[in-house]
Amino acid sequence: MAGNVTLTIIKPGAVERNLIGPILAKINEGGFVIKALKYTKLKKEQACEFYQEHEGKPFYDDLTDFMSSSPIVVAILEKENAVADFRKLIGSTDPLEADEGTIRKIFAASKTHNAVHGSDSDASAIRESDFFFSRVERF
Ligand code: GDP
Ligand code: MG
Repeated sequence: MAGNVTLTIIKPGAVERNLIGPILAKINEGGFVIKALKYTKLKKEQACEFYQEHEGKPFYDDLTDFMSSSPIVVAILEKENAVADFRKLIGSTDPLEADEGTIRKIFAASKTHNAVHGSDSDASAIRESDFFFSRVERF
């Protein structure tokens, strides 16, 4: 399965703005199949653990406050070349730099409040899937 899955989070803000349905529709239209799905909320220390690679960066505290501020939707997505294709579908981190038609261009409010997460490598996809989902939650 390595190489064919990625992990996404519909971030706080997008969930609050009732964008779960529209974003999942874009994900399906992009050719991704949902393999696991949950609605949950992170504690601050869980958001810090999830984003540990960014510890020490100027945006880390705001990012982890934001990610633990209200509920999120998390999904494992399957498609050939999933990681790279999904990052193409969501667009640049900063919505101002994202291509037209990408999920962040359409739905993001700002660089921190940028609507969705997408794994940056196959190794991250595995680590992030293990972080959120137990074995019986993926089949
Ligand atoms: P991603 O892989 O495109 O999500 O970007 P990164 O892994 O570099 O950063 C993780 C998240 O931190 C991003 O999705 C943004 O929400 C936030 N972020 C990254 N860089 C910046 C920045 O320079 N300023 C602010 N305010 N937020 C940032
Ligand atoms: Mg990243």
